[in-house]
Amino acid sequence: VRYAEGKGWYDARVEARAPIPMDPATAVLHYAQEIFEGLKAYRAADGGVTLFRPDANAARFRQSAARMAMAPVPEQLFLDALSELIRIDRDWVPSDPEGSLYLRPFQYASEVFLGVKPSSEYLFLIIASPVGSYFKGGVKPVSVWVSRDYTRAAPGGTGAAKCGGNYAASLVAQAEAIEHGCDQVVFLDAVEQRYVDELGGMNVFFAFDDGTLLTPPLTGTILPGITRESVLRLAADQGLTVREELYSYEQWQADARSGRLREAFACGTAAVITPIGVVRDRSGEFTIGDGTAGKVTMDLRERLVGIQRGTSPDPHGWVHRVL
Ligand code: PMP
Repeated sequence: VRYAEGKGWYDARVEARAPIPMDPATAVLHYAQEIFEGLKAYRAADGGVTLFRPDANAARFRQSAARMAMAPVPEQLFLDALSELIRIDRDWVPSDPEGSLYLRPFQYASEVFLGVKPSSEYLFLIIASPVGSYFKGGVKPVSVWVSRDYTRAAPGGTGAAKCGGNYAASLVAQAEAIEHGCDQVVFLDAVEQRYVDELGGMNVFFAFDDGTLLTPPLTGTILPGITRESVLRLAADQGLTVREELYSYEQWQADARSGRLREAFACGTAAVITPIGVVRDRSGEFTIGDGTAGKVTMDLRERLVGIQRGTSPDPHGWVHRVL
């Protein structure tokens, strides 16, 4: 779908995937005015197709657009575009219980000019691609690397927006994590390098021995994850005390060592919920619990996956029927 100032959104169509020819002076190539979303379409037991909270993705897409000075895509257009694409690609939604059709809506500045200013033309596109299970051979705890050299987002920056530039800036930290034998990077806050913000592509939760569940608050520097918000609600349903509070890396180390911290997990659309087993930084490492997946983590995971796949009741009305 195209956008031009004064004309609005127009020219919606579904086409076979093909390269997009671009003028070398296209704004996005120079100033990175680009945002995206990620969500999955699931095959229902009766053969239909569902999405999980696509209205939340539509809302976040608009918020990301506002932060990047881009024209926002109307929520209904976002949902209609997803539905239309899924209708045409319905045979690509896997029927196996682990698979899904990954959907990648994105929007970029398509106007051709070289000055630094917001574009007056945009392109909104969605790619659809079938994916299998995130975990081959069952859920395994991941190891994480706490970055001391790089931060992800500063106050007033773009951390709460899902813009490509945030990921460009995090690649070097993710590479550092992999160099140190870890699966994912953990970012600390940019001001004091003290509080846990989030992972490279997931939000983070901590479960304590007194039945509380803690996650960092939405201070503007972390992405407001849709999985994060869903976990907060499911945890409250289960009678856990949920706290959205700052949590320092120092406290994390102390609580893991004293045994007060029982479990930690990361969450996001791709892996849903992933237990964290080992935490490493340049001065050493520690294990969470006995390093295996804990009960709070796996119960929440099962509840959420059940709702998404349509095998458990959906008390919050999160499942959106497309077909
Ligand atoms: N934080 C970051 C930086 C992410 O890229 C993602 C993935 N979109 C998340 C958190 C989790 O968000 P969601 O649950 O909406 O996928």
